[in-house]
Amino acid sequence: MIEMDDAIRIVLENTQIIDTETVDLMDALGYVLAKDIRSDINMPPFDKATMDGYALQGGDIASASKSTPIVLDVIEEIPAGTVPKRTVGKGQASRIMTGAPVPRGADTVIMVEDTETETGGQKVRVLDVTGVGENIARLGEDVTVNQVVLNKGAQVRPPEIGILAAVGAVQVPVFRKPIVGVIATGSEVVEPMRVPEPGQIRNSNGYSMMAQALRASAQVKYLGIVEDDAAALNRVIGEGLDTCDVVMLSGGVSAGVYDLVQDAMRELGVKVLFDRIRMKPGKPLTFGVKGRKLVFGLPGNPVSSVVGLELLARPAIRKMQSMERVHHAQAKTVLKADFHQSPGRKQFVPARSVPGNQGIWTSDWVGHHGSADLFALARANSLFVVEAEAEHVPAGTALDLILLENW
Ligand code: AMP
Ligand code: MG
Repeated sequence: MIEMDDAIRIVLENTQIIDTETVDLMDALGYVLAKDIRSDINMPPFDKATMDGYALQGGDIASASKSTPIVLDVIEEIPAGTVPKRTVGKGQASRIMTGAPVPRGADTVIMVEDTETETGGQKVRVLDVTGVGENIARLGEDVTVNQVVLNKGAQVRPPEIGILAAVGAVQVPVFRKPIVGVIATGSEVVEPMRVPEPGQIRNSNGYSMMAQALRASAQVKYLGIVEDDAAALNRVIGEGLDTCDVVMLSGGVSAGVYDLVQDAMRELGVKVLFDRIRMKPGKPLTFGVKGRKLVFGLPGNPVSSVVGLELLARPAIRKMQSMERVHHAQAKTVLKADFHQSPGRKQFVPARSVPGNQGIWTSDWVGHHGSADLFALARANSLFVVEAEAEHVPAGTALDLILLENW
């Protein structure tokens, strides 16, 4: 039996970074970039007007004011998306729109609010001065050709999608999302579309595990329910090892005579690195590796399986993709009510928590009974952590809180 901190360390030490692939721009959301992304163009790609107004020579209007307006000839109109044809000379101006290229000869744009048009738009009266060079964004001012605009390791969120689009990176190099193969074990377990007969239960774990794996940014492959039979287990775990990056099992890891998962793992050449954790819920949690493949044998009790996956498997799935933050965020919390446990194992207690003053949260135990109560979990958004040696934890005690993000 090992401590939880050691279990987490062993899992992460044995987790390798996955290979990379290329995905289309809009599929890249949520992936981690596998390479630095460089711009293929200057941004702006030309000297660009940042205001609607007139492009002109700043020297011409140095003395302009309401009482002494300067009148210039308007020689051209330049909407955004067009290319100016005429060079602006002394005493001349071109009407220009935001985003349009500044014409040759002009060094300044005066905004339309500081002007008045004359004689049907052929002339403009400038009513105020503006600094030479104003209202122009210069070529390459934001980004120059070949400049790195996103770093390898960045997770693609909406702004990164915008940047990828801006630099023409329509094929995006990313770390592959690991394929998690999910297996539910137990001769009593039936698929959700069936009404359980006497002695049977529905497979809830297989589905919640797949949902959790998806939330952890994995792809999932459902390998089905396997009865408590050594040959059947060997076959399906073997299939998982052949076709997936991570194999995740529910049940069959306790000490009973029908708990055959560990034997099957060993027989298939999986090196079992631990099979018991001094934690609650979820003591009989098994972890092994075969080459780069990871195998998690999670306990059958739904709450144990959920907690084990969030605290051990999720960090591994995220590390495989080079994600920076692999663990859930933590906070400090105080308990709303007294809490008791029989000492011996560090406990992760599903709780409903709300943020309070100065970053301290308040937590309310969701009241699961033993580790079987799946329904209580639906109220939980966090786990508060009770140290192994604690017995009576009075209301108001400050504890560590794990926030189940994206839950
Ligand atoms: P086990 O770890 O196989 O001894 O299972 C422990 C408990 O979890 C038993 O009550 C099982 O019936 C239950 N259980 C096992 N697998 C599942 C599953 N896929 N969905 C829901 N409950 C399960
Ligand atoms: Mg079982």
